[in-house]
Amino acid sequence: MTSATPSIGTSPSSSSSLRGDVDYDVLIVGAGLSGVAAAHHLRERCPSARFAILESRSTMGGTWDLFRYPGVRSDSDMFTLGYSFRPWHGEKSISGGQTILDYIRDTAKAFGIDKIIKFGHKVTSANWDSQAARWTVQVHRTEGNVDMETRYTCKFLYMCSGYYDYDEGHEPRWPDMEKFKGRIVHPQHWPADLAYADKRVVVIGSGATAVTLVPAMADTAKHVTMLQRSPTYIFSLPARDKFANTLRKWLPSTLAHKLIRSKNVLLTMYLYNRARRKPEETKQLLIRAAGWQLGPEFDVDKHMTPRYNPWDQRLCLVPNGDLFKAVRAGKASIATDEIERFTETGVRLRSGEHLDADLVITATGLKLKMLGGSVISVDGRQISLGDTVSYKGMMYSDVPNLASSFGYTNASWTLKAELIAQYVCRLVNHMKANHYDVCVPRLRENEMGSLPAVDLTSGYIQRASNILPKQGLHKPWKYHQNYLLDLASLRFGALSDGVMQFERRPMTTARLKREAQEPA
Ligand SMILES: Cc1cc2nc3c(=O)[nH]c(=O)nc-3n(C[C@H](O)[C@H](O)[C@H](O)COP(=O)(O)OP(=O)(O)OC[C@H]3O[C@@H](n4cnc5c(N)ncnc54)[C@H](O)[C@@H]3O)c2cc1C
Repeated sequence: MTSATPSIGTSPSSSSSLRGDVDYDVLIVGAGLSGVAAAHHLRERCPSARFAILESRSTMGGTWDLFRYPGVRSDSDMFTLGYSFRPWHGEKSISGGQTILDYIRDTAKAFGIDKIIKFGHKVTSANWDSQAARWTVQVHRTEGNVDMETRYTCKFLYMCSGYYDYDEGHEPRWPDMEKFKGRIVHPQHWPADLAYADKRVVVIGSGATAVTLVPAMADTAKHVTMLQRSPTYIFSLPARDKFANTLRKWLPSTLAHKLIRSKNVLLTMYLYNRARRKPEETKQLLIRAAGWQLGPEFDVDKHMTPRYNPWDQRLCLVPNGDLFKAVRAGKASIATDEIERFTETGVRLRSGEHLDADLVITATGLKLKMLGGSVISVDGRQISLGDTVSYKGMMYSDVPNLASSFGYTNASWTLKAELIAQYVCRLVNHMKANHYDVCVPRLRENEMGSLPAVDLTSGYIQRASNILPKQGLHKPWKYHQNYLLDLASLRFGALSDGVMQFERRPMTTARLKREAQEPA
């Protein structure tokens, strides 16, 4: 049992240790977009559940608090990246990082979720005890300069800890980096005092971060070069959604939010499915649209024609074509080449070209980390996630009473995060109503997963293939990446589907028997 101060409203009862009970019914790990959604749905749908959020950092918001590089913004629309239960009032549909952070914080405050977050609580390990049917969660606590270890117990562990390493991004090494006289910065750790006015900047990368940074820095920098090894599909959309803004003028905000959200869900699904069904047509459309915005002088074949099909990797969105405008205005340029080595004054490319730079930004991506880096074991046996098969994209084969929040790669993260939250609530309620202690998706031998859980060819996914769970060929072991199919499965599908097993401890069975024999 813990020595930590319980939080109001969700605290364990003071006699819980005497009853041999657990500290919490549900422990949520992480106070980002997913953790707040998880807490909201638990409070709404499982009002008697005792739960808390453990957050390793001293602030909430996760991704939207950590990333502070210039221009940081969403790359999907805020009506679907925002919550179903809290209308997005922002003026822009593609919104800046600070506005998103404010929205998450305000939501937490509006629903009293901020009060149940235990900051400075980093989960380092969790062990499931089958006899006791509970998790013992080991937590490293930081309070000011003081570090200490704490333990909590819970019936259900709900990991909302994101999918990447908060401590470091992916930073490849190139020859002679140490000789470079300028500064090298990774966007995950943007120094607050970084001055780049009138500087020559090279941004290495072609993903969402690079295409955001280049136009944002181009306004004040002397020149920004986006240096990519190979091109990515980049498309432009208006930052403001005219349809949404009109609807919001005429309809009550909740209704407008629902309608706009539904429209965006369906439109995104339609465009994704069309791209997968007609890759060549979509490819030509995207390349032509980019070329048209970049102008006739621009070498579209070299810089805008990826080697893969649309949605083999995520597409990159640029609001109002800001990247294209910066290139066309001569403030930014794109180089497609490989780095041979760094020099004192910049970067030498394989083609022999030299890019002069005062500042190099390595927008080279994230380092994936599952379950917040915590060591998970079942009865003392450590679980390697790469050996498990993902159940409905949110639980793991043969790991009891544990779910994790993992969003879509082809639509807004929050859509799936909320479906998972609602499914967890259904599980918690079903177990309580039927006196079950355990829920566990059991894998039969002929269902072994062979495919990677995330079917993107992007570098950050490929680098992490050994730490990601697998997926099977059939549901419920197969990933849908489709909101409507997941809605049917997670909101309305039967909980007892022949795979999910509900079990009682012998103690519970004996208690139920005793109670049944007692006179009313
Ligand atoms: C720059 C950037 C832009 C993005 N833009 C979009 C977008 O436009 N649309 C979209 O759909 N997705 C986007 N994503 C994906 C994005 O990560 C999700 O949209 C979403 O913010 C993830 O929320 P989360 O709460 O699941 O995870 P996170 O935001 O990563 O939050 C996880 C929280 O868990 C905490 N935590 C981690 N490990 C532990 C531990 N061991 N113990 C305790 N606490 C822990 C962290 O400190 C953090 O607060 C973007 C990602 C990045 C990096």
